[in-house]
Amino acid sequence: MDKLTKLKSQALDELAGAKSEDQINQIRIKFLGRKGLLTGILRQMGTLPQEQRRATGQLANSIKTELEAELKLKQTHIRLNQNRKKTSPKLDVTLPGRRPALGKKHPITQTIEEISNIFLSLGFQIAQGPEVESDYYNFEALNIPADHPARDMHDTFYITDKLLLRTHTSPVQIHVMEKIKPPIRIIAPGKAYRCDADHTHTPMFHQVEGLLVDDLVTFGDLKGVLNLFAQRMFGADTKLRFRPSFFPFTEPSAEIDIACVMCKGEGCRVCSRTGWLEILGAGMVDPAVFEKVGYDADKYTGFAFGMGVERIAMLKYGINDIRLFFENDLRFLAQF
Ligand SMILES: [Zn+2]
Repeated sequence: MDKLTKLKSQALDELAGAKSEDQINQIRIKFLGRKGLLTGILRQMGTLPQEQRRATGQLANSIKTELEAELKLKQTHIRLNQNRKKTSPKLDVTLPGRRPALGKKHPITQTIEEISNIFLSLGFQIAQGPEVESDYYNFEALNIPADHPARDMHDTFYITDKLLLRTHTSPVQIHVMEKIKPPIRIIAPGKAYRCDADHTHTPMFHQVEGLLVDDLVTFGDLKGVLNLFAQRMFGADTKLRFRPSFFPFTEPSAEIDIACVMCKGEGCRVCSRTGWLEILGAGMVDPAVFEKVGYDADKYTGFAFGMGVERIAMLKYGINDIRLFFENDLRFLAQF
């Protein structure tokens, strides 16, 4: 029995040092094989006195079972280790970590926020309205009656005869004025829709509408606010030009240009050699619009303006095709 116990610990020692399946097999043969050491002892059982045979036999068998289990366990460990080495590359803990890719705000969202922050700092509040509008809010209330030629310029998406996708953010002016009395200082950023598509037009685009109504608001106030906006948006030395224009809902009306951001007014391809770029339309609110919302046109005056967000972003970042904003190409979007 002493011999058996020693044999067991010898086998376990050798097994602990084994590093390959080959070595395990050799150990198995050495101890449990047909001519193995343990097998040899089992064969000598018959020479033992009768009274020792039973206990010794039991011990030898339990050692055999235990050794077989240990051999199997060790073999499993070695196989697992080999698989791990095959499938996973070595871990180099000295390498710097890899940052997960983070999303960014879309350049249009960034531009809307930038425009909004300028007007918020001037005391304007943000107002919103529905994108599906009635004919009344999109046209009628803005002094564009059914037979008005200005309707032709809008390329409207109609849903029914009286329901449409708003062609500009101006209807928000009407919604706001119907709800509250002056003083009013709001901007309304949002989507607008027109059936139009080329490298400067998309069927869906963004506008920021502005409206200020109070006692004694003058065209000088409009010029002051827009000057301040343009200088904060495009740089402190940005020059503005007001050109007489026509919108049904403002009188007088103007289109406003900034000195070309590319050539600083010298004349280049971007500004068609004029030195100027149109950035928005504006004017004093037409008294006919005040009458529609029940304001006293003799008491209040106000100004309104509207700008295309994509256009502002294109000028600011030097983007030459509006469709880039909507193609979701990460190589483009990641630059902002
Ligand atoms: Zn230019």
